[in-house]
Amino acid sequence: MERRELGNSTSGNASGGQTVAELYAQVHESMENVSAGLSYDVIVIGVGSMGASACYHLAKRGCRVLGLEQHDIPHELGSHAGQSRIIRKAYGEAIGYVPLLERAYENWRTLESETGSRVYYETGLTYFGPPGSSFLQTVRESAEKHQIPLEHLSPEACRRKYPQFDIPAHFECLVEPEAGLLTPERSILLLVQEALKHGADIHCGEPVVEWGCQDGGVTVRTPRKTYRAGKLVITAGAWAPHLLPALTPRLQVTRQALAWVQPEDWERFTLGTFPCWHLEHKGYHFYGFPIMPDGTFGGPHGLKLALHHPGEVVTDPDTADRGPRKAEEQVLIEFLEKFLPKGYVRTLEMKTCLYTNTPDGHFVVDYLKGYGKDVVVAAGFSGHGFKFASVIGEVLADLALEGATPFPIDFLSADRFDS
Ligand SMILES: Cc1cc2nc3c(=O)[nH]c(=O)nc-3n(C[C@H](O)[C@H](O)[C@H](O)COP(=O)(O)OP(=O)(O)OC[C@H]3O[C@@H](n4cnc5c(N)ncnc54)[C@H](O)[C@@H]3O)c2cc1C
Repeated sequence: MERRELGNSTSGNASGGQTVAELYAQVHESMENVSAGLSYDVIVIGVGSMGASACYHLAKRGCRVLGLEQHDIPHELGSHAGQSRIIRKAYGEAIGYVPLLERAYENWRTLESETGSRVYYETGLTYFGPPGSSFLQTVRESAEKHQIPLEHLSPEACRRKYPQFDIPAHFECLVEPEAGLLTPERSILLLVQEALKHGADIHCGEPVVEWGCQDGGVTVRTPRKTYRAGKLVITAGAWAPHLLPALTPRLQVTRQALAWVQPEDWERFTLGTFPCWHLEHKGYHFYGFPIMPDGTFGGPHGLKLALHHPGEVVTDPDTADRGPRKAEEQVLIEFLEKFLPKGYVRTLEMKTCLYTNTPDGHFVVDYLKGYGKDVVVAAGFSGHGFKFASVIGEVLADLALEGATPFPIDFLSADRFDS
């Protein structure tokens, strides 16, 4: 496929590229200038985190791809909003993810070098937790098995290095220096921009209302048109239960609160001074980010933190109550007062984002049962998927175009819940 000449995202500012607002304007102008067909090699439903990456990898391989997004690109109603996402490799959820993470890091770097924009900020990540934490044990085991740099700090060293925290002396403190954060809005826009350059058609504001397989291909209907393709990739995030009835019993969508707060001393918590962090307290996992520069990455300006634990169940993402809740805010304030004593003066903003949880907290990346190899699904990212988007897109392109992937994804199969 011929490479389209579109605007270049490269710019030399200190934040590593265009602001999200600048990039948004440029990408949307490019999307409007693209002509639309009705027949494709592959259609991708949902151009959020995983779908944008799938479009990018498919288009790079010369495939005629159509990406259909019901909302804007990016938007705040799914799972990718909020300016930052942690990326780490010494994986506490399961060692089996590490090979995927190795490739995810590589692919994010490739996107950066192709676009001249920065999406990854290596802030380091500090893990705090009580002795006996199984999460920290898996972090240590992942690091050991895959030679991932991981430092173990004594309580004194931890206090010296991170005076912002007040950590109980019996807590373990681990530091993964090569971990950090990704900027989701910029990443998704860059993936879409590159996909467009490689000839993809991407439409936003066009919901898929029906899909099916017939005559050796797939048909996808939207309120505007009916499209046909050889293969279908479904990356619908919190809407996956609606599009994939077979997976509905396995996917539970929950609302998740995020807070941006004003700390006492702003400078001690900014990017370059303060790391990303993860703290386990009484079985609950809290995490947070340094303050990002204002106006560059989208989202509110302030010290961001959240609780990584499934929140209230949402039956329909279109009608979910996204308003701030006092009780959710209070949990975060109490946490700050206990562990980051100078971290809280007032709440600047609260937002709600959605998790799509599987029963075991692991993703589903597989062919959809009953459709041979025509329909590929990536769903159930259970609140920890963004860092993988760059490799999941590659895996989805493998599955759709090659019929198999060399990446180890057996543990993410859709039928693991059946037995
Ligand atoms: C508060 C919060 C914090 C998080 N923190 C981290 C973190 O630090 N690190 C990390 O790795 N991960 C994190 N995650 C998880 C990560 O963001 C998600 O796992 C990831 O974004 C899921 O990607 P997705 O593509 O499945 O969903 P999305 O990015 O939401 O994309 C799905 C897209 O499909 C579209 N769609 C759905 N149905 C249709 C349809 N019928 N027609 C057309 N389009 C459709 C939706 O509009 C949406 O844009 C966090 C998530 C939340 C909510």
